[in-house]
Amino acid sequence: MERDGKDILCALRGLAGAAWQALLDLFFPPPAGCAFCGGQAEGGGVCPACRDLLAAYRERVGCVVCGAFLEDGAPAGEPGACAACRKKPPPFALARSLGPYEGLLKAAVLRLKFGGECWLARPLGGLLAELARAFPAAAAQPVLVPVPLSPGRLRERGYNQAGLLAREMSRALGWPLVEALVKIKEAPPQERLTAKERLAAPEGSFAPAAAFTSGSEVVLVDDVITTGATAAECARALLRAGASAVFVAAVAGARRA
Ligand SMILES: [Zn+2]
Ligand SMILES: [Zn+2]
Repeated sequence: MERDGKDILCALRGLAGAAWQALLDLFFPPPAGCAFCGGQAEGGGVCPACRDLLAAYRERVGCVVCGAFLEDGAPAGEPGACAACRKKPPPFALARSLGPYEGLLKAAVLRLKFGGECWLARPLGGLLAELARAFPAAAAQPVLVPVPLSPGRLRERGYNQAGLLAREMSRALGWPLVEALVKIKEAPPQERLTAKERLAAPEGSFAPAAAFTSGSEVVLVDDVITTGATAAECARALLRAGASAVFVAAVAGARRA
């Protein structure tokens, strides 16, 4: 696969420590505008209009467990667990994302993942840090764990977008980052699967790569949670590795009635 300069810069950012990051920022300064619309940004690299859109999404969280958003026009009602979470409670304590995977968030995720715009990990990671700060963790410093890519996918892309996000969260929060999971099986591309296969696909795909001391709480970081199956599979592996609770933070999530 051909790599252009942007991808090489992303791969470098994926590898570099804090001092090298600062140097990369100096020589390849990230764009100054809003991460989402390119408009005049305030602190954190997001403009007031896009902050308002994100704030409106926060009002539309329809499930207190998986964080799925209400369909457009659906009445808000009393917050509770969605039908899927009531039927089969997920192994993670709760999951939250900035908003549904559409519009500004979908565009930002695609740019981060496939557009070589890895600088977006900074503003998006900053927003995820705000989200994670509100998690009801008992530990003062939960451990941040990115959802891993398979070694093959990592070679192909050159960087793990979840890893970049987790590192920016770690920088903002001062929480430790541990690459505590490995992906041992590549699931077929999601879009080729039926809804049922999609739910079943990640089974057995992740294994723990590190052990946790008892009582460790983990914040799992990913770019998108759709069915929650990947997050559930990762959470199970983290609990097997000794984590006492797993919270999930993602840039974008699903809508569910
Ligand atoms: Zn904006
Ligand atoms: Zn739910």
